[in-house]
Amino acid sequence: RAKSLGKARYHVFDPVMYQEAIQLLQLENDLRKAVERQEFLVYYQPIISLSTGKIISLEALVRWQHPTRDLVFPIEFIPASEEIGLINEINIWVLQEACETISSWSEKKLIDKSLSISVNLSVRLFYQTNLIAHINRIINQTKISSCNLKIEITESVIMENHRDIKNVLSHFQKLNIPLIMDDFGTGYSSLSYLHSFPFNALKIDKSFVRRMQDNQENMGLVPAMISIAHSMGMTAIAEGVETPEQLAQLRCLNCDYAQGYLFSQPLPKELMIDLLLTSPQW
Ligand code: C2E
Ligand code: MG
Ligand code: MG
Ligand code: MG
Repeated sequence: RAKSLGKARYHVFDPVMYQEAIQLLQLENDLRKAVERQEFLVYYQPIISLSTGKIISLEALVRWQHPTRDLVFPIEFIPASEEIGLINEINIWVLQEACETISSWSEKKLIDKSLSISVNLSVRLFYQTNLIAHINRIINQTKISSCNLKIEITESVIMENHRDIKNVLSHFQKLNIPLIMDDFGTGYSSLSYLHSFPFNALKIDKSFVRRMQDNQENMGLVPAMISIAHSMGMTAIAEGVETPEQLAQLRCLNCDYAQGYLFSQPLPKELMIDLLLTSPQW
């Protein structure tokens, strides 16, 4: 907050900046209330195995049910909640809610025991000393098996903070929680560097998947990214798959998993269980 207000202070009165500062304050206020009133929702998007065509996993994606606005997407509130220190509370809630959902479906025998849940973690949580304690508690309470909980961390974040992060990542590894590097290709990791982290999977950023079709002949960088994953003993997940052509291309390239609007939009849990119960196959 100080940063954005500070900017405005050093300028002659600027109505645009003033307006932006007011909006940011409003957002912060609303976010604090949202945490108290539990206005967040988890949406779920399926991840498909390209060998079987079946759903093998779900990604948990947070939404904010603002009292007076339409559903608010993470791009609008995750950065702000990181800045004002609310991200830990929000993200731990998402983790808990996602694990409880999977666990209750599993208890009612609605889903296959092997269905896993993938949760995005902000790097801020890695500096919270009790992150591992929270994870242990959630796993114990929900009785989900640790290999069915996957953690996604974005590549750019890992580049910035490698030393501190390595410690936490090795904790996850010890707990048998699979680790996914999200938005792979956007963070300029060096390959030797990548090798030193215990990732199980690379999730290819949707910008590369989108550009596959512009480069019909070589399919851009996607084949290379899949090879990198495989040569390091990791699996490859393609995100942002929207067309049957992309799906066919990814299958040709031996990509392992895919996710995108072609299969399903992120859905609230009531609609996701309906989809799962139809046992869809692509
Ligand atoms: P992400 O983890 O890379 O998630 C993928 C984003 O792509 C999601 O946006 C998803 O709705 C969207 N998407 C899925 N399929 C397609 C497609 O076919 N085409 C296109 N154009 N987009 C697709 P969303 O839900 O708005 O989330 C944005 C980002 O916010 C996520 O990117 C993740 O970094 C962050 N995020 C979401 N939930 C959480 C959370 O619980 N905690 C934290 N720390 N971050 C979260
Ligand atoms: Mg993700
Ligand atoms: Mg991503
Ligand atoms: Mg992303």
